[in-house]
Amino acid sequence: MSFDTLGLSAELLRAIREQGYNEPTPIQRNAIPVVLDGKDVLAGAQTGTGKTAGFTLPMLQRLSKTPAAKGRRPVRALVLTPTRELAAQVGESVQTYGRHLPLKSAVIFGGVKINPQIEKLRRGIDILVATPGRLLDHVSQKTVDLSQVEILVLDEADRMLDMGFIHDIRKVMALLPDKNARQTLLFSATFSNEIKQLANRLLNQPELIEVARRNTTAERIEQKVYPVDKLRKRELLSFMIGSRNWRQVLVFTRTKHGANRLSQQLEKDGLTAAAIHGNKSQGARTRALAGFKKGEVRVLVATDIAARGLDIDQLPHVVNYELPNVPEDYVHRIGRTGRAGNEGEAISLVCVDEHKLLKDIERLLKREIPKETLQGYEPDPSIKAEPIQNGRNGKGRSQPRKQGNDRNRGNASAKRPGAGRRKSGNSQARQARSGRA
Ligand code: AMP
Repeated sequence: MSFDTLGLSAELLRAIREQGYNEPTPIQRNAIPVVLDGKDVLAGAQTGTGKTAGFTLPMLQRLSKTPAAKGRRPVRALVLTPTRELAAQVGESVQTYGRHLPLKSAVIFGGVKINPQIEKLRRGIDILVATPGRLLDHVSQKTVDLSQVEILVLDEADRMLDMGFIHDIRKVMALLPDKNARQTLLFSATFSNEIKQLANRLLNQPELIEVARRNTTAERIEQKVYPVDKLRKRELLSFMIGSRNWRQVLVFTRTKHGANRLSQQLEKDGLTAAAIHGNKSQGARTRALAGFKKGEVRVLVATDIAARGLDIDQLPHVVNYELPNVPEDYVHRIGRTGRAGNEGEAISLVCVDEHKLLKDIERLLKREIPKETLQGYEPDPSIKAEPIQNGRNGKGRSQPRKQGNDRNRGNASAKRPGAGRRKSGNSQARQARSGRA
């Protein structure tokens, strides 16, 4: 099936051709005609499915059909995203697909100066892509008017709720035209009860579009679990990267502190690595991501929230250095690989403490993930499970935090007495990195 049959205008089809896309993805096939029809949409689609173009293309078309008023343009489409990275990425898509249309767009998020954003808004824009916190800063400074929004998109709505944005979302909703007077599109990778409630409140008789089975992982991702002792994970990771000659690996840790420490340790192991998390400045996050995309940084170590919205083409390897506390995060994490039809590999290094987390993930996926024990890295059966430390302030999951602050703080992998290293693994790792394995 080609894009030509979806009812998109010549300008958009040209932009799609220039992007090199031949066929619409399932979410695009399903969502584009419905959105063009002016209907509300509740879409279950995870990152990597092509969902951004799925809402951006018809949104651009609808806006371009009714010309903007002369003079200062009101914001006519608002896209809310949970993270800065995702906002930037959606903003890029709007630019790319809308390059042959006379529409103006802007991206606003926190962590950068507000004045250039105010300036852009003052000149008038049609499409605003924003994170909720900074959007409300603009609202309180009266630098943005949302009363004429025709199309509202909530992208990765589950993540927005997870990050504690529900109050901000409510505040924004109060500033928009009523749900009967606007078109609303809600995208979410997972459907919790909270998401269903939010959908009931915001959407007007939506069409339900689901492309992958609910809470399942993309088909083309090969998943594997490697059981290993906690204190030997770093060594095993270095060994895998070296011996398998992985050139671009995204590694997940549970905490910011853990991400920093692992990236420093990998550097010491001779691998170029960078950490990306909410405590880093926007500049540092952007630089780390750019270095990773260009291939200058081989390993990008990220926390869940910081990794949201990262779009890296054909990312071949994702490693769960630590399993996430929330099983849905596993789905989000591994959605970073195998994007848009490419094959991907998602590996989890699982220690005895994490067996319960693994069970929860497998329950969510409704299948077992294949396990493989690597010679020299077999877990020591005498090591007993210990509770997982998620933060400096205690155990378990802390309160959701706002953007820029990752959910859990502190030291996830405190050294456990009695879990010793084994020589064989060390030398294996060294050999692998020096290219001898
Ligand atoms: P998304 O799920 O929106 O984050 O998109 C994932 C990736 O798929 C992005 O890198 C897009 O550029 C790419 N993509 C989107 N639509 C298509 C398509 N029809 N064919 C090939 N790649 C696509």
